[in-house]
Amino acid sequence: MEYRVAQLEALGRFLDDKKQEILEATELDMGKPSFEAFFSEILLCKNELNITLNNLSHWMKDEHVDKNLVMQLDSAFIRKDPYGVVLIIAPWNYPIHLFLVPLIGAIAAGNCAIIKPSEISKNTERLIAETLSCYLDNDCFAIVTGGVPETTRLLENKFDYIFFTGSPPVGRIVMTAAAKHLTPVTLELGGKNPCYVSDTCDVTNVARRVVWGRFFNAGQTCIAPDYLLCTIEMQEKLMPALREAITEFFGPNPRESPDFGRIVNDKQFQRLRALLCSGRVAIGGQTDEAERYIAPTVLADVLPSDPAMQEEIFGPILPIVVIANMDEAIDFINARPRPLALYAFSCDSKIVNQVLEQTSSGGFCGNDTLMHLTLTSLPFGGVGRSKIPSPGHWEIGLIHDLSYGEEWNSGLGKYHGKFTFDTFSHHRGCLHRNMGLETLNTPRYPPYTQQKLGLLTTTFEVKRRGTCTLL
Ligand code: NAD
Repeated sequence: MEYRVAQLEALGRFLDDKKQEILEATELDMGKPSFEAFFSEILLCKNELNITLNNLSHWMKDEHVDKNLVMQLDSAFIRKDPYGVVLIIAPWNYPIHLFLVPLIGAIAAGNCAIIKPSEISKNTERLIAETLSCYLDNDCFAIVTGGVPETTRLLENKFDYIFFTGSPPVGRIVMTAAAKHLTPVTLELGGKNPCYVSDTCDVTNVARRVVWGRFFNAGQTCIAPDYLLCTIEMQEKLMPALREAITEFFGPNPRESPDFGRIVNDKQFQRLRALLCSGRVAIGGQTDEAERYIAPTVLADVLPSDPAMQEEIFGPILPIVVIANMDEAIDFINARPRPLALYAFSCDSKIVNQVLEQTSSGGFCGNDTLMHLTLTSLPFGGVGRSKIPSPGHWEIGLIHDLSYGEEWNSGLGKYHGKFTFDTFSHHRGCLHRNMGLETLNTPRYPPYTQQKLGLLTTTFEVKRRGTCTLL
């Protein structure tokens, strides 16, 4: 425990000492506003660290469990063993947060770790490579840098656990490599997060909360609301409110706003610009290749067959898909891969609950966006493979989505707070019996008799609560 605490406290010092460098590196990588970088890369990581340090002794303790009659004098418990050497592979969009939060849990659970930051966020990668090893015990924690060839080589090794955050296609590559050694994995993947806006809602508040969640980090957030689903009437009402929120947050020209980021590289910029032909550009749409700037953009009347609906957007573009009513929105959601996050807005909590009950997603947030991630008490992660569309969905013209559905997947496993500690711990089921009291054991030994079977049944049988055999 002392060792783990020392390493975790060292991570805290890394965040404190390198705060300015982190803000500068993420600014260089994707124009991340320092406010957003402080909140997502430092404050939320500090919260994870403090929650872990505050609870570590409790989490590490053996968990004693219920026993049967024969074992009343014995000890039955769950021991939290480390897996061994874990590999953490991170993406570029929150380049500190997404390696540090898993690492906190890996250290807390007693593992050694190899950390592979993203090569795309190159300034942050350099900062991590040059400075993190000064804080951690280098016998137990190593940083490996590089892109596809290096990670491919790294994955040939036998790890005891692999924690991957990134895109679903690469998640598949990681899981295939892990399968070769039967290594357990957590896959934190992505996809398209639907956001349903019902006809009964406070349009101004919805617009502010959606604009914040969609355009934070210039839309490069795995749980950002990817598209809105609403009626044509709500689209009409929302549009001025969305425009107002964008202007209020980023001024009349968001390009000049210090609070609006840039796209991470040219490849992503080109990919995003090609999505602007979907539907009709109702707000924004301006781009500047030299700066990799894409204005906060809202696309109206987007069709399910449009390019913006064929892939995870991962940028500052918000399509609105018009549906007739809530049931159609639910069908639309259920016809697609189960998303990482799902949002529903309504003043009527029955509607929010109905969307929650009739759908599946990694996480859910009613009447806001992104905020569920900030609670370390909630598990964070995907929900696995896509749903196979039911025959009914073929009728509403969603056949083209099948190829998307085959490839996309929100991931498997969960983390944050105690869930991270549990992810990196092997829960070892242990029973420590008393050496004496042998008479208690005789009913299970041969030679078997009917009387022994009766005794065995009485002592081992688990009865349904509320059933009384005497009546
Ligand atoms: P990515 O999958 O391209 O890369 C992630 C990591 O995998 C990087 O470190 C990269 O070097 C490595 N990698 C890339 N190609 C590889 C290959 N062929 N073989 C082995 N390793 C390879 O993802 P990205 O572009 O960095 O991040 C964006 C994606 O990540 C989006 O899909 C987003 O939704 C997802 N994401 C998910 C979460 C989450 O918590 N679920 C968080 C952030 C991002």
